[in-house]
Order: sequence, then structure tokens, then C-alpha cells
Amino acid sequence: MIDKVKLPHRASEITPFLVMDILEKAKKMEAGGEDIVHLEVGEPDFDTPLSVREAAKEAIDRGQTGYAPSLGLPELREIISEDYNARYGVNITSERVIITSGSSPALQMIFASLINEGDEVIMSNPHYACYENFVKFFGGHARFVDLGEKEDFRLKSHAVSGKISKKTRAILVNSPANPTGVVLSGSELESICNLNVPVISDEIYHGLTYEGDEHSVLEFSDDAFVVNGFSKRYAMTGWRLGYAIVPHDYIRPLQRLIQNFFISAPTISQWGGLAALKYAGEDLQLMKEEFRKRRDYIVEGLGKMGLKLGARPEGAFYVLVNVKDFTNDSLSFCYDLLDKGKVALTPGIDFGSGGEGYVRLSYANSIERIGEGLQRIGKYLEMVS
Ligand code: PMP
Repeated sequence: MIDKVKLPHRASEITPFLVMDILEKAKKMEAGGEDIVHLEVGEPDFDTPLSVREAAKEAIDRGQTGYAPSLGLPELREIISEDYNARYGVNITSERVIITSGSSPALQMIFASLINEGDEVIMSNPHYACYENFVKFFGGHARFVDLGEKEDFRLKSHAVSGKISKKTRAILVNSPANPTGVVLSGSELESICNLNVPVISDEIYHGLTYEGDEHSVLEFSDDAFVVNGFSKRYAMTGWRLGYAIVPHDYIRPLQRLIQNFFISAPTISQWGGLAALKYAGEDLQLMKEEFRKRRDYIVEGLGKMGLKLGARPEGAFYVLVNVKDFTNDSLSFCYDLLDKGKVALTPGIDFGSGGEGYVRLSYANSIERIGEGLQRIGKYLEMVS
């Protein structure tokens, strides 16, 4: 769709988030009575844990519905720092934890505090769709490290180091990764941290790793910005709750930005987040076990269909599937599959040019629906080949 208004360049350069366009189209088809299998959306299909819902209701009943402190509820900042310290053996003080309205604003505020016009942020290609747009919006450029099957879609420090220039302001890492599910090892993360460039680590899928250990960049560097949140790990996408852990010198600058742009993250959600960390450990284990089963099921199913995975998915809830035998236009492929096969997938091109020729399947859906989706994809592929 062509914009009808003349937008300033910052806004006009923002590309659509294609998965959201596909989702909207799928919803319209459903409203028209069609049955669509959703394997596109990056959102857990579980209910938010009961203890979290109860805590939020209680907060409302106690009248805790005003603004929160700009950096977040002290209790929540404290428990997040304890959680990081316990999980990764680090020593983070709660003052370095800044609560945000989801991890997306955390990323935006970090970019806003790092990027000058023309600065570069190194990131993988493919990458989570919004990263490049965020960097551009603040006047920077994404400098890509191209990853493919040859590299097992793993971001390696030697490839990153070749992209460092005078303009580099940060290296962005995302493990477990969207869209590949790849989890970087401790030593891979450590060697990226050793490049002596600030690292921004999007750890939103931490807690959803099915193989090997999970590491935070904070184990390897103090010159690092961690971004995390409650959306994925605790099935709390609509609560809009996330956080950043930042170097000490950035606390006040980020506070100024948050005061101006957001005032505070939602207070009710913060009480919910506190309950998540206190009481929802068991729910988390159950969700993780279910995701693991689905991952095994979808990987096996795709294998039986003769489809090749981009990389072995070790975490998050995504599989990147190679469809180069069928198309070199993943967007048209996904729309056609939705029209004719009634399955919604995310086109690889949503994740940058490095995702072209692939589609991303999300297994945030029941085994039964995943099975139905795979069958429909199989039929569609027979039809088009
Ligand atoms: N980072 C990654 C890699 C994601 O996949 C997402 C959501 N799809 C986000 C950040 C944003 O999550 P939220 O704003 O809900 O915390």
C-alpha cells in the first residue's frame, strides 16, 4: 500500500512488519468463516500464569493504578537482579535494572542513548525484523554480518570483527535467536564481548532453551546492555512489560528518556511481573516442556516432508525452513499458501535479505494444529511443484 500522506523520512523509511500484515489477513479470512492454521505469530498460545493474573487483579483492588517510578517498581527491579544473579552467577545491582513497557521500548531507548547520525550497529542478517528499523529511526545504519546454512546461522566473533569500523557503536546479539532458534554458546558470546565494542544482547527468549546451557552477556562484559521481558517466557505479550540492564553510567540518561517518552511502564503489569518471578516457576517449566515437545514434533514432521531446516532450533519457538526449491519470493509464497493452503507462516524476507528463500514456522500452537498445518503445507507444496 502506498502512503497517502507525505511522511518525514524517518517515518517513511520504516518498513512494515510483514508477519503482522499476514496475521491481519489471516484474521480477516477467519472472520469470513475460513479455518486458518496459525504458525506465523511469535506469541505463546498459553494463558498468563494464574498467580500473575491474580497479583494484577489484587494490585487493581489495592488501588495501585497510578504511575510507577520511571525506572520501575523497586521490588521488581530487585527481584530481576536476583534472578539474573542466580541464573548466571553475575553480580548485578537492582539500580542497573530499568523496567520498560516491553522489550521493544527498551531496545529503542538503548539505541536512542547510543546512536548519533551515521553510526553503525553490527547485527546478523537474518535478524529480528524490527532491529534494523529501530537503528534507522535513530539515524544509524545496520551493518550486517551475513549468515546462512554454511555458518549454521551462528554469529561468530571473527565475522563480526571484520565489520567493526570507526562508526561502530554496538554489536547486537540475540540468543536464542528469532528467526532461527539458534543458541550461542558461552564461548561464542564471550569472544564477541572480547571485541571491545558495547554489546546489546536481546535475551527475550531466555528460559526457552531446550539444548545446552544458556548464557547472558553479563557473564562476560560489564560494557553490555541486556534487553529482556516477560512476553515470551511468561506468556505475557499483552502486558507490555520488559526491562533493560544497563551499565551504571547509562541509568540516568535512560531515565530521562523514559520520563519523557513513557513516564513509566504499566504499574499493574509490574505487580504481575513481580508475581511471575516469585511464583510462576512451575508454570514456566510446564510451558517449556510443551514447547520442547512441539519443537521435536515439528522438526520430525518437516524432516518427513523432505524439507530442510536453516539451522537446528535449540531455543525460542521458531524453525526456519528452506523453501528455495519452491520460491525465491518468500512473501508471495506465504500469501499464496495462506490463500490456497490456509496456513499462515512468516516470510523469511521479514528478517532481512538473509532470510529470503526461507519461511519461519512458529510452534506456539498445539501439536494438533501444528500437525494439521504441516499436512496442509504438504498438500500445497505438491500442488505448486
Ligand atoms: N526481540 C525479539 C527477538 C522478539 O522476537 C520480540 C517479539 N517478537 C521482541 C524483541 C519484542 O518483544 P516485547 O516488546 O513484547 O517484549
